[in-house]
Amino acid sequence: MLSKYIYIIILPALFITGCTNQPVTEEVNLYTARKEHLIRPLLDIFETDTGIKVNIVSAKTKVLIKKIIDEGKTSPADLLITVDAGNLYKAKIRGISQEIKSDKINKLIPENLRDKEGHWYGLSIRSRVIMYNPKNVDSKEIMNYEDLANPALKNRVCIRSSSNIYNQSLLASLIHHNGEKSALAWAKGVVNNFSRDPKGNDRGQMAAVVLGKCDVTLANTYYLGKWISSKKDTEREYAKKIKVLFPNQDNRGSHINISGALVTKNSKNKANAVKLIEFLASDKAQEIYSKQNHEYPIRPNIKVSDVVKLWGYPFKMDSLNLTILGDLNDKAGKIFDIAKWK
Ligand code: FE
Repeated sequence: MLSKYIYIIILPALFITGCTNQPVTEEVNLYTARKEHLIRPLLDIFETDTGIKVNIVSAKTKVLIKKIIDEGKTSPADLLITVDAGNLYKAKIRGISQEIKSDKINKLIPENLRDKEGHWYGLSIRSRVIMYNPKNVDSKEIMNYEDLANPALKNRVCIRSSSNIYNQSLLASLIHHNGEKSALAWAKGVVNNFSRDPKGNDRGQMAAVVLGKCDVTLANTYYLGKWISSKKDTEREYAKKIKVLFPNQDNRGSHINISGALVTKNSKNKANAVKLIEFLASDKAQEIYSKQNHEYPIRPNIKVSDVVKLWGYPFKMDSLNLTILGDLNDKAGKIFDIAKWK
């Protein structure tokens, strides 16, 4: 009889404490190599729409990948966002990602912008284009990436180092389209045309063009967007003195790359991580994201920023599957070494 009373008292008590110990807030932990101010406005909308809280850890790609590996099974990371298919490919090779099966995501994200095995997904597009000084270059001189190796450009080309993933991915695309021999001849030709040893980042090359230290360079499109919309007078002035040329418009299209996301192998909130990718690929998020970053949306039906339109949109994009950039990254590195592209 006594035991019956104990059950009656204890069971409801257990039920109540059990409930209060449950985590009330749904969350997802995002490790991101993108600056927080660029994605925070989007994440705020996601939080309001879904009630899922997004916790952010920001650092450089290499740091985040190492952190996820070091943390192993105890890693709180659910999602990694970074730039360049080459980086996402490397993260997958290092075993920190997992395959996602979502028809919704596959419908939203074009096939060429995602990993062939479903490990990573493109969320924005950037193009690596030719930028030049219109005072010194006739735009008809240069039509294709291949033309950067033309002897007419001797001592006129400045490009950043071959250790840069953007250049590695571009060379990977040239290997894919033209073959290894031709890619090596191209790299040697470009090195021959260097106006100086590679140094600095994309904006450093663009500044060198503006300041007459070289005539032609390669840079990602959004950097010009940053200059045009900059608070700094000098950057807005610089932007007026450089022109964009979309290469290979009469053939395969200009080289593109992505920023993208993967779900980590040891994610504890996988369903929420998948929801976040679905949201970031949605029309609503795409429009905000591309405007914020001066990048291109992943689907042509989404509007681009007015700034981005200034130097030409739409343009023909190379449609190769970006997984190939990762597949050919090692070969690209070797070719850069043989060509003595520092
Ligand atoms: Fe960049």
